[in-house]
Amino acid sequence: MKDKETSRLPGFHRLDAAARRREIERRLGEGGLGAGLSLEQADAMIENAVGVVGIPLGVAANFLVNGEDVLVPMAIEEPSVVAAASNAARMAREGGGFVAGADPAHTAAQIEILDAPAGSAARVAARRSEIERTANGTQPELVGLGGGVVDLEIREAVGRPGRLVMHLVVDCLDAMGANMVNTMAEAVSPLIARAAGGRAGLRILTNLADRRLARASCAVPFEALGRRGFSGERVARAVVSAAEFAADDPYRAATHNKGVFNGIDALLLACGNDWRAVEAGGHAWAARGGRYGSLTAWTIEGEALRGELEMPMAVGVVGGAARANPTARSCMRLAGIETAADLARLAVCAGLATNLAALCALGSEGIQRGHMRLHGRRDR
Ligand code: NAD
Repeated sequence: MKDKETSRLPGFHRLDAAARRREIERRLGEGGLGAGLSLEQADAMIENAVGVVGIPLGVAANFLVNGEDVLVPMAIEEPSVVAAASNAARMAREGGGFVAGADPAHTAAQIEILDAPAGSAARVAARRSEIERTANGTQPELVGLGGGVVDLEIREAVGRPGRLVMHLVVDCLDAMGANMVNTMAEAVSPLIARAAGGRAGLRILTNLADRRLARASCAVPFEALGRRGFSGERVARAVVSAAEFAADDPYRAATHNKGVFNGIDALLLACGNDWRAVEAGGHAWAARGGRYGSLTAWTIEGEALRGELEMPMAVGVVGGAARANPTARSCMRLAGIETAADLARLAVCAGLATNLAALCALGSEGIQRGHMRLHGRRDR
């Protein structure tokens, strides 16, 4: 379902939880949010299942992504994150919302060959079509849908002489792809070891999905940033300064990026995706220059604060828990997510939003005022 209704929900946060749920169920129509994961469903997903753990599910309002209104489902135990995402999305909306894009779902499996003698890379490269055929042969459904192997990359002497690593790059279409590419890697590794004249080592995907980036940007007008005694321009300059601090200092960058993942992980958890995989890829990407740094960049552009986030985003709408968990399916329907690229785009928007909210608070009245007010609701 593409939500054609506005994502502006004035007064939504003042409703009681049951009334909010009714409004979301009205939007979802038949099936609604569903009853959640049953023990039987959990048992089919993991081993030794004994129950399901509850995590609050909220909905962030105000998101405008590539001109479309989107409600963002967020599963998270931490107070203030859903409010922060909604507030930041409202500010970004003043500048036209978020612009987002995603690369094709190209995921690489690594096949390690040990004791590879000199010249083995050329011998492996010469077997390219056989390798592709063997790998694709394990995934007839994916290939039938137009996916499959798109590239082979061979790296020699990785870390030490004699370690050859082949990256088997696969278009996973609407899947996260880990299981599929791992199966392909295991199928082709004997062939590669023989061609190389070495012995097979590890065969598994890399979570540093740097061929599968998603990106989001926004331009927030100064007037949308003003708050209690702080002009919008002052807040914008404080955000830029905070982003520079994160770029300069890994201690700060870790916390800065945690704020980015507040939005990303909450959406991915709501949508039944492997957020550890995305965390691993994001942090490795943040350290790609040799030193851990910020995932986002904030600059002043005319009378606006411009934000950008680009990072690996290996997510799926088929496979894994995305289909197995009925609440995840409802959450994706609520957000109008039909493809892996839809989810990837929305995830970077959510991450940019929670980063913006945190930096605006840190650069003005501080983070604790809003945070503790919302923490305090627990004691009611
Ligand atoms: P999967 O094994 O369920 O494969 C996806 C299936 O969907 C395939 O059978 C494919 O043919 C089918 N499919 C139908 N329509 C499709 C479409 N439009 N696009 C693509 N495929 C389509 O799932 P997966 O995505 O290969 O693996 C994801 C799971 O792997 C996650 O649960 C993840 O946690 C887990 N995992 C992760 C890691 C890691 O990140 N390091 C390692 C191992 C496993």
